[in-house]
Amino acid sequence: MSIVNPRRLTRQVTLGDARVGFVRIGGGLPARDGTPTTPAPVSVQTMTTGITHEIDTCVAEINRLTAAGAEVVRVAVPEKKDTDALRQIIPQVRVPIVADVHFHFQRALEAIEAGVHKIRLNPGNINDRKQVIDVIQACKARNLPIRVGVNEGSIIERKDKQKRLKELGAIFSDHKRGYLLAIMITKLEEYLDIFYEQDFHEIVISAKSMDPVTVVQAYTEISKRFDHPLHLGVTHAGPKETGCIRSVAALGTLLANGIGDTIRISYASDAVYEVEDGLELLYSLGLRERRGAELIACPTCGRIQVDLISLVQDVRKMLATDIRLPIKVAVMGCIVNGPGEAEGADVAVFAGDRRGIIYVQGERVANVPEEQILQRLLEECKTFQGRVERGEARLGEKKVEIVPPDPVGEVGSGWEKVAHERLKTGAATLTIGNT
Ligand code: SF4
Repeated sequence: MSIVNPRRLTRQVTLGDARVGFVRIGGGLPARDGTPTTPAPVSVQTMTTGITHEIDTCVAEINRLTAAGAEVVRVAVPEKKDTDALRQIIPQVRVPIVADVHFHFQRALEAIEAGVHKIRLNPGNINDRKQVIDVIQACKARNLPIRVGVNEGSIIERKDKQKRLKELGAIFSDHKRGYLLAIMITKLEEYLDIFYEQDFHEIVISAKSMDPVTVVQAYTEISKRFDHPLHLGVTHAGPKETGCIRSVAALGTLLANGIGDTIRISYASDAVYEVEDGLELLYSLGLRERRGAELIACPTCGRIQVDLISLVQDVRKMLATDIRLPIKVAVMGCIVNGPGEAEGADVAVFAGDRRGIIYVQGERVANVPEEQILQRLLEECKTFQGRVERGEARLGEKKVEIVPPDPVGEVGSGWEKVAHERLKTGAATLTIGNT
């Protein structure tokens, strides 16, 4: 049974070109000419952290993000030299590029001329009607979509807040920050009216906040009022270590409720993590088909038999570069839970007595010293990948039951060994694992 509700149907926008490929966002509702659309997979996007007009560095960063799986990459264009740089950057990358425009509508016009694939506008700082119309018309002429992104940080104005509080605050009085939702939605309505008047509908909406609860409430309310696809994100989420939790709490809730068509996780860390974590979130919710290996690892405990923390990090990097197929790989610190996890994995290693016992689809293939585990595990993963690609094996197909070796070695684990050690120290009961 899926815990994810059916996707909310939206209009669909498409960005990209024949060279970089096309990315569809949202869908399910017919296009304006009546052509049916089907919902596109939720896409993952990110934003460069470097300076755009440092062209070589910017290209290298975009290519690194693309290699990590980013499907759309946004760049900041605060100055004309940034939009000028786009003319050289775009031909060197293989992913649709979005120009992130604030304050200066000319940057949007310049980016469009430079060949960008989408524009992001912020109603909080580009709100001159004539300027907005100029950008809309330029995008319309080139069939480019626009994301309208209302961010909590850029829309709070004292005067506006008080006015909206009076007019609309009561509507959301039961929400955590009702006044903010009222402002966000009113801004969107006002802004999008300009787009509709220009008969422009290639629109994606975002309404980010730094507070995950507000994000959930804002997107939920917006999803009831607009049929445009939604770009989800928690803004200023913090470094990866904490931003990950804040982002997943909000985005996971929304996606599980069927809301959201493209996501950007934002960290004050390397943007590659944004892409990797965004993809992992979608894989975990069953919203995307996994690309590359799935790594399962135990959290380690006092029964640990090898340096598992370092091993897991090395295995993770190795799988990311060498494995294309969604092979399930388990790395377990001892035989308490090792055999159980190994049974469900395509390739598994569990440790004992500073050694690694490696299984491929339930079949024991190696028992190697700790220092050889990584290399041997990689070899087995690659060999297995080759067999799957040649049609000689199938993913997720276990062949035999795994019987835990017992004992694994002198200081090894094993059911009897663990039980024996517990009894020796006077423990009354044997707890099998803590995972
Ligand atoms: S008991 Fe579980 S957590 Fe502890 S080392 Fe073994 S597999 Fe890892």
